[in-house]
Amino acid sequence: MRIDIITCLPRLLESPFSDSILKRAQQKELVTVAIHDLREYTTHKHRTTDDYAFGGGAGMVMMIEPIDRCIEHLKSERNYDEIIYMSPDGDLLTQPIANELSLKKNLILLCGHYKGVDERVREHLITREISIGNYVLSGGELAAAVVADAVIRLLPGVLNDETSALTDSFQDGLVAPPVYTRPATYKGWKVPEVLLSGHEARISQWKHEKSLERTKKRRPGLLGEV
Ligand code: SAH
Repeated sequence: MRIDIITCLPRLLESPFSDSILKRAQQKELVTVAIHDLREYTTHKHRTTDDYAFGGGAGMVMMIEPIDRCIEHLKSERNYDEIIYMSPDGDLLTQPIANELSLKKNLILLCGHYKGVDERVREHLITREISIGNYVLSGGELAAAVVADAVIRLLPGVLNDETSALTDSFQDGLVAPPVYTRPATYKGWKVPEVLLSGHEARISQWKHEKSLERTKKRRPGLLGEV
């Protein structure tokens, strides 16, 4: 899989991909993440990528030209399954959306900044809009990193234990059960006895019950959907 991220602040995207699972996924060549600096695509002499809003109002708007040139350049190199604009009013990111995107081959994630992008970008250049929640961030970079992380960890071979992503919350319509590690007792707080029993069937029954209990309490909406 390949994910191209377009931004006017590439440095904001350096660290999310340079550690742990996302770094290893790239080293193992299971995914290529390419960050593109919009400033490389402007014809403006000061390399600006934003300008004042027509009609006035506070805040700068990202110009269409560098975004168009960057997308055109990428599209001349390969076909893209989706060109996604990160936007607070886009489709809310959910596990099913992450699952769906993880099956694609090439994705572009476009990050806005300031007041967002010129509306004509949204009308003509992109195929989809995704939000990571009903709140406003200062830029799309963190949101794009969230989407990329949620997608990349699902790619076969990325997680060491292949079944691991399947036992996470939302994959089976339930949230995950609680987890514990050593020591078995800390300050008198004990790990549930069943987990130390070595009895696989009882353990898996316990996990299922806890998942169900938690889902009922924390995400009752999920039970209606299964
Ligand atoms: N004026 C816009 C907000 C712009 S925030 C509005 O009121 O809707 C600047 C940029 O941050 C956006 O262009 C978008 O790319 C990104 N962004 C902000 N919040 C986001 C969210 N919840 N999900 C995804 N991207 C977001």
